[in-house]
Amino acid sequence: MKMSDERYGNCMEQSDAIPSEIIEFSRLVETEGLHGLNFQHISLCTRRAWFHLNRIDYAHLDERMANGTVMHETSRPRDRSVEGLIGLAPDRIDWQNRIVVEAKARSGAKTAVSRQTAFYALLLWASTGQPWRAQNDIIEERRSRPVVIDPEVVDEMLDLARKLATLNRRSDPPPAKRKKLCTSCSYRFLCGMT
Ligand code: SF4
Repeated sequence: MKMSDERYGNCMEQSDAIPSEIIEFSRLVETEGLHGLNFQHISLCTRRAWFHLNRIDYAHLDERMANGTVMHETSRPRDRSVEGLIGLAPDRIDWQNRIVVEAKARSGAKTAVSRQTAFYALLLWASTGQPWRAQNDIIEERRSRPVVIDPEVVDEMLDLARKLATLNRRSDPPPAKRKKLCTSCSYRFLCGMT
């Protein structure tokens, strides 16, 4: 990203030109039809991201994920002000302070969850012309966790968007590679990781 951290710091405080990386990110998201969860999945596993891009969803078959979904839905009802918002679906938006919030049942997969939430902040930045902050509410622990939005994160997000665009053009999924995550992944039966 071309901006210095100092320049970026100023940008977080006041209205400024939208950085070219954010404009490019927003363009890719729109042309590729990407969503926040795509960025969570590709941070964890490229094969898993391919399944999700192709709408192959096993989450409803996984008891642990089903319980997490119920906890999420019953603990923090979605803020109604986000409904119909430029295709975004974060859990809550503090419009006055420009903070977007995504609630998660548990604290795991910090980087992947942060990327999903950063997705909302970057698109809100692109659409409002103002920088946004991001935060995760961890329901089980009743605490909030800030999500860093800095030039490195913006570069990482743009890089992930480009990877997702490439993945979108694959007709078959990347090969399954065993990793620690596989034992708790909802696709483990499909991947033969049981
Ligand atoms: S089971 Fe493992 S290889 Fe398969 S999608 Fe999940 S994380 Fe990726």
